[in-house]
Amino acid sequence: MVRVAIDIGHGSDTWENGGGKGVVRNGVVYEEHNFNSLVAQELDRLLRSNGIDTLLYQQPFSPEIGLTQRTNYYNAQNVDLVWSIHANASSTTSAEGRCAFYWYTASEARRLAELYVDEVRNAGYSTHGTGLHASQPGSWTNLHICRETNMTAVLTENGFMTNDVDFQMIFGSGQATYVANIARIHAKAICRFFGISFEDDGGSTEQKYIEILADSLWTYNTPDWNDRAVIVNRGEVFTVIRDRFYVDGGYMYQIKSGLYITANPTYVRVYTR
Ligand SMILES: [Zn+2]
Repeated sequence: MVRVAIDIGHGSDTWENGGGKGVVRNGVVYEEHNFNSLVAQELDRLLRSNGIDTLLYQQPFSPEIGLTQRTNYYNAQNVDLVWSIHANASSTTSAEGRCAFYWYTASEARRLAELYVDEVRNAGYSTHGTGLHASQPGSWTNLHICRETNMTAVLTENGFMTNDVDFQMIFGSGQATYVANIARIHAKAICRFFGISFEDDGGSTEQKYIEILADSLWTYNTPDWNDRAVIVNRGEVFTVIRDRFYVDGGYMYQIKSGLYITANPTYVRVYTR
C-alpha cells in the first residue's frame, strides 16, 4: 500500500515563538498552521478513502515539530511520499496564486509538482507565475523538506496570506470551500502520481456540531474575545460553519447564527453526524 506523509507546515506555537508564520488583520492574528491543519485533515480523509495510507507526524493544531526531526522521521519510516502544506506571504500585497516546490534534481518530485499545478488550473485557481519552483542549494528556494527527504517530496504554497483575495479564501468567508477544494487538488495530484483513479466521496458530508458543557457561555459577534454577544446554556447544540481557528490566545468556532464561540474542550464538546 502506498504511504504518504502529510506534512503540516509549522505548529500552533510558531507565531507565539516569534516564527512569524501568519498575518495580522485588524489586530487579529491569523496563523498559517491553522489553515495548513484544515487542509491536511481533509486531505488525510480523502487519501484514506482512496486506499492510500497516511502518516501525520506534525499533528494539526499542535506545537511545532522541528524540521530536522520531521525529515529524520519520514526517512526512518521510509514513506513513499512527503507532501508539505503551506500558505505564502510577501511584502508585495499584489503577489497571489498557488505554487509547488520540488528538489531541482528530483524528476519524480517535479512530475508530481506539475500534476499539482495542473489540478490547480483544472479547479479554476491561479498559479503564482508558472506555479513551479525548483528548490536549489544556495538560494531562497533551498527548502529543508525538499532537500533532506530521501523520497519524493513536494512543498505547496496554497495562496498568499498577504493578498486580499487569497486571504478571504485562506482565512475568511471563503475558507470552508477553499480548504475542501485545495485538499481535493492535492488528493487528485497524488492519485494521478500513483496511477490511482480518484474517487470523491462528496466532501465533508459529516456536519460538525458543538454541545455546550458549561452552565453558561458567552458567544461573540466577531472573532474577538471582547466582542461579547449573547449567553448560551448547558446542553444547547449548535451547527459549526467554520472549523476551529486561532484567535488571540485561544480557539473559536463559528456557528450557524454567524456568532463565534470558544473551542475550548472544557466548555464545549464537538461531534459529527
Ligand atoms: Zn509555511
